[in-house]
Amino acid sequence: MKKITILGSSGSIGIQALDIISKMKNDICVEGLAVGSNVKILKSQIKKFKPSAVSVNDHNDAENLKKWCKSNNIKIDVYSGVLGLKKLVTMQKVDMVLAAIVGSIGLQSIVAAIVAKKDIAIANKESLVMAGNYIMSLAIKNGISILPVDSEHSAIFQCCDGRKRSQIKKIILTASGGPFYKYSKNFSNITVDQALEHPTWKMGKKITIDSATLMNKGLEAIEASVLFGVPMDKIEIVIHPQSIVHSMVEYVDGSVMAQLSNPDMRIPIQYALTYPEKFASKVKPLNLVNVGKLEFYKPNFNKFPCLRLAYYSAKKGYTYPAVMNVANEVAVDAFLKKKIKFTDIAKIVEKTIKSHKVSKKTVLGTFLKIDCWARQYAKNLIENGVK
Ligand code: MG
Repeated sequence: MKKITILGSSGSIGIQALDIISKMKNDICVEGLAVGSNVKILKSQIKKFKPSAVSVNDHNDAENLKKWCKSNNIKIDVYSGVLGLKKLVTMQKVDMVLAAIVGSIGLQSIVAAIVAKKDIAIANKESLVMAGNYIMSLAIKNGISILPVDSEHSAIFQCCDGRKRSQIKKIILTASGGPFYKYSKNFSNITVDQALEHPTWKMGKKITIDSATLMNKGLEAIEASVLFGVPMDKIEIVIHPQSIVHSMVEYVDGSVMAQLSNPDMRIPIQYALTYPEKFASKVKPLNLVNVGKLEFYKPNFNKFPCLRLAYYSAKKGYTYPAVMNVANEVAVDAFLKKKIKFTDIAKIVEKTIKSHKVSKKTVLGTFLKIDCWARQYAKNLIENGVK
């Protein structure tokens, strides 16, 4: 029986993971659940999955939840904040942590989980972008596995399972292109509602905006480089609007391996939870005759400057990707709150990167300091009006 803690259980990945777990009661059980502020969903999950501990972001929410547990005769530990996340991931009986928490807040808890020797199913790409090499070397040192949950990375993982890195010629990362890859009007007039309408995937808000700017693909290219130890210039992005081929690996002998399925996150989530086994799932079988055609296009780096910024930051290395990631988080949040235009997202990211003084010390403390600096810098840019 695998015992698991889920960070971000009220989000899109967390909910789908719990749906999978509810059908695998003999194989996986839930020990810990953490949400940000969605206490209502957490309460229903507590009733259904009976974890031994939970955590919420806010201290007052935690106090109210304790009272609710008491009045419902539920005996569990209730924690709050970053400390709460750390408690959940370091519980002795936990075997695996599903890091499905959005944004850079996940970093500290992921590091704590690795040090406590828990395997990580990682859906939090931001932490790999921020401190990828640090996380990967810490994982090797502690002898734990980092299993990708992102659909593209799960595809790459399945395509290169067991093969030597030196045999990989390149990774071909597919992108749906988001809602705007064919859009010919002025990008600065794109509204929040337009950007939230993703053609093939149903996901959380932050990642949906990242998919519209293609920053998501930039973050994923860095994530792939970190996870598979392949340099950025060997990672090629291809627009594939049907989202059937989830990514490919080209080998030195010229053969290309691909992983295909209907776009459904339950496949990569389940595989990360059950690796190396494959279990039956409820995903609709792929019918290629019905799909009819699979198209592939070159992405336009001028139309989507976030892609260019991601490659630039990754090549600069050290603390650059962390700064880019945090600036993007702040900018996306401001766009969702209608404080800035769609095209300002890339501008804020670029300005923050360019003002950054690189630090070559890559320990956890450096990344946390850089996070604070970039967050404040990007916020100031937004308050003063982006030019
Ligand atoms: Mg993805």
